[in-house]
Amino acid sequence: MKRSLGPRQWGGSKMPDGAFVTGKCLCGAVSYEVAGEPVRMSQCHCRDCQRASGTGHMSLAFFKADGVALHGETRSFSVTADSGNLVTRHFCPVCGSRLFSENSARPGLIGLAVGCMEERDWFEPQMVVFTKNRSAWDVTPSKVPSFEAAAPVPPPAR
Ligand SMILES: [Zn+2]
Ligand SMILES: [Zn+2]
Repeated sequence: MKRSLGPRQWGGSKMPDGAFVTGKCLCGAVSYEVAGEPVRMSQCHCRDCQRASGTGHMSLAFFKADGVALHGETRSFSVTADSGNLVTRHFCPVCGSRLFSENSARPGLIGLAVGCMEERDWFEPQMVVFTKNRSAWDVTPSKVPSFEAAAPVPPPAR
């Protein structure tokens, strides 16, 4: 079942009541509320996401970082990605859940791991990236635009 992003009133209301979505790690030490709607949704099959998640891909919803209220401390690990960008992945230091990541090419945005969210049915990947690392057992419907490596990123505003 698909739920529209529209009816949920988040604009102008205070979190958490007006949150677009909420989420938490496996143990609950880290949780968050997100006020804005996603600016981008993607599946990433890069080797780093595969290793960090232990699965075939990460399903990521990118939000404006200033709309995300985070509770609890995370630990992080930064690595230079295939794209040349610095990617910092944040995880719960207690249970290890992968919660979100930041990318040096997209300052001000954070990519939240959809699996940690309470509601996930709204997620609809707009692109699949790093399909060169995708396994045959982990495919997304072919109507979703796919890129062999990183998706094109608009130049940063100066
Ligand atoms: Zn945890
Ligand atoms: Zn990735």
